[in-house]
Amino acid sequence: MSMIRLENVSKYYKSEETVSVGMKKVNLEFDLGEFVAVTGESGSGKSTLLNVISGLDGYEDGELYLFGEETSHFTIADWEKYRGTNIGFVFQNYNIIDSFTVLQNVLLALEVQGYDPKTRKQRALELIEKVGLTSHKNHKASKLSGGQKQRTVIARALAKDCPIIVADEPTGNLDSQSGAQVLKVLHDISKDKLIIVVTHDYDQIKEFATRKIKMHDGEVVEDKKYKKVQDVKEYVAPVPQKMSIATLIRFTFRSLFSTPKRLIFLTLLQMIVMVAFTLSYSWREGQIRDINVQQSNRFPNVPVTRLLVERRDGVDFDADDLEYFENIRFVSKVYEHGLSFYNSLRLYVFTSDNIYDTGTEKYYNSWESVSGTDAASTLSSLDIDGTLPTLANEIVIGHNWTNYNIGDDVYIGTSSQYTNPNINEDFVGKFKITGIDKAKANILYFSDAFLENPDIEQYSIDGTAKNSLIDQVSWGMTFLYNDQSMELSRGMTDQSGIAIVFNVYESGTPELIEIKDLEFSRYIYNPNTWESVEFTVTVPNVSIYKLGDEITPFGAMSEGLATYLEDYILDEFEHFYKVENRKVLSLSVKGINDGNKAIDAIDQDIYRVIYPANIPNPAAGILSFVMGLFTGIFIILFGLLLYSIVHAVSKNIMKSRKKDFAIFRSIGTNKVTLARLVVLEQVFIAAISTVLMFTVLFILSNYVTSIYEIIQFMEISDYVILVIVFLLFGAWLGLRFNKKIFRQSVIESIVSSREE
Ligand code: ADP
Ligand code: MG
Repeated sequence: MSMIRLENVSKYYKSEETVSVGMKKVNLEFDLGEFVAVTGESGSGKSTLLNVISGLDGYEDGELYLFGEETSHFTIADWEKYRGTNIGFVFQNYNIIDSFTVLQNVLLALEVQGYDPKTRKQRALELIEKVGLTSHKNHKASKLSGGQKQRTVIARALAKDCPIIVADEPTGNLDSQSGAQVLKVLHDISKDKLIIVVTHDYDQIKEFATRKIKMHDGEVVEDKKYKKVQDVKEYVAPVPQKMSIATLIRFTFRSLFSTPKRLIFLTLLQMIVMVAFTLSYSWREGQIRDINVQQSNRFPNVPVTRLLVERRDGVDFDADDLEYFENIRFVSKVYEHGLSFYNSLRLYVFTSDNIYDTGTEKYYNSWESVSGTDAASTLSSLDIDGTLPTLANEIVIGHNWTNYNIGDDVYIGTSSQYTNPNINEDFVGKFKITGIDKAKANILYFSDAFLENPDIEQYSIDGTAKNSLIDQVSWGMTFLYNDQSMELSRGMTDQSGIAIVFNVYESGTPELIEIKDLEFSRYIYNPNTWESVEFTVTVPNVSIYKLGDEITPFGAMSEGLATYLEDYILDEFEHFYKVENRKVLSLSVKGINDGNKAIDAIDQDIYRVIYPANIPNPAAGILSFVMGLFTGIFIILFGLLLYSIVHAVSKNIMKSRKKDFAIFRSIGTNKVTLARLVVLEQVFIAAISTVLMFTVLFILSNYVTSIYEIIQFMEISDYVILVIVFLLFGAWLGLRFNKKIFRQSVIESIVSSREE
């Protein structure tokens, strides 16, 4: 039984319009021990014959028997197995992986075949010795001469210990001396094997050939045996082993790191895309949070970087307290003064352009109200244009006020309108702008010199806060009278004592109807939960008068009643609405997330903590759900867009690897292994990019506040989600590349990669 037998085998190449004949009705047999020369002019079908025999390409008619077995029913896997165990290829264009060294190219074939890891290096070195390249074993293939490349390919072809070596014009691109060297190597290894060499220069090979086959127009026109073939005992093919995971991983690393430029480019590309995705992902978290929390009306100026703390026992802070707060990891600075300032009314910014001089007084109009203040020490010089303020009268402003420039003076006060600011105690002062915040629009940053000055206590909201509470109490307190809910205004009655008069606009003398206990109520912010709660107070012995006939919900309370309510409620809410004579510290934190962590770290039994910029918004519910949904959809679409960009760019880069993959396949890497390799490569690139990207992001977030602000809400679980997304994304890319790689037959991809 012959090892290879062709029976009337024909092969046609079909293109869209034409069909050309590769070879027709070829009948041949081959056996071990033969050194066959296939000759014929160009286009006569030599390569076609070789490709069909070696299972690189299919055939249309007839039957090819391999080891006596019909092959017309062979599946892709059968062909892979056949090629993998039986065939070593040597092509004219020395199919070699340029980025690998000689040793790596030879090892490749051994790894693919699952050779014992302990012995394969030794074997590779022996083969390299055999082809005379020991001195070049660590040279990159791209640096070798044509003859050296071809000898490397032969060593690689031999590596698998396969019985058949096919060589298609192996000396075609070589000078005669290197050509002779290559043929000699082929001859040296020909014992026990079947060697088929295609050449159009028969003379060069005559010396070694045992047989000459001549082709013409796809047909065999001559088949002569010259030398007696030694008898070789029947060949037993080695059983191919699966590539181990360890080998696969090593393999992947080698092919990644052997082309560092490609690796760097793909990693940078993915890092950029991952940063974009991570930022938009965490931006979404921030958006949802923004809806779920609100700024307290009580402290309109307190930024998200400030917490206020006081002792529950009302005792002054001492050095131990300060040390306690300074030692909390999330607190970046403790301010002993400055509370009152944060406690102030909304601040207003003026320019001298807005002065109206009436002759006796100067009158200032507001330019714009400010929605936050902070300490300039929370800024880094990267966050601003200009410099950070050092003196008490220097300031950094947000970029909202486009008509202010660095170096300009700006006036700041706690009211939107002023008479002469120089004599008004609510006027905060005149400041020189040293810098402009790039990230935030509507904010003022004061220097430590300013914030640490006890004098700024004068801008306290104390008085105003009390007034606002009194307003709440005195106007529009509701109470129930004869099952009717009624509202009162203050002071529209001249009745003294604790009294209510109905129908105040009617004329006549008020008539006392009754004296009874009444329950008054009002919605007020609860100082602990910061939620709006209904506060009720029962006032005993209220005298109720009326004017006219009817009792309508239209009346007024006496000064006495108003004062009673005021005193009662001020007593009740003293901690909330009054800070007079009470020490409060303000703690500077990096942002909301650190602020919340700081609150968790503070001993709540000893201290009361208020985070005015981050109180729960009871109205968030559905809005935050809708927001979450829409931003979620946005994130997914954005992710897909980024993915398609990476895919489009990487696709072109993967094209340059087509040749490598064709080589992998031609040396017997099966589809599954190669597919794993491609996926693993992409997953590794994604993993490297992820690690680098997060590292860079973390480092940057320590220096650039705006980056910190975006990523601050990311929890461990978010990072886990992102890592999984990125790795899956790598795998997905790999799977898509696979589809492309396996669309062509081995020979098609070898040929087309050569053309590209
Ligand atoms: P040789 O190797 O002897 O030069 P080939 O086997 O490459 O000849 O080609 C035999 C014939 O088949 C030629 O006419 C050639 O044009 C044709 N042929 C070879 N490969 C293809 C192909 N991929 N598509 C179409 N025609 C082909
Ligand atoms: Mg050819």
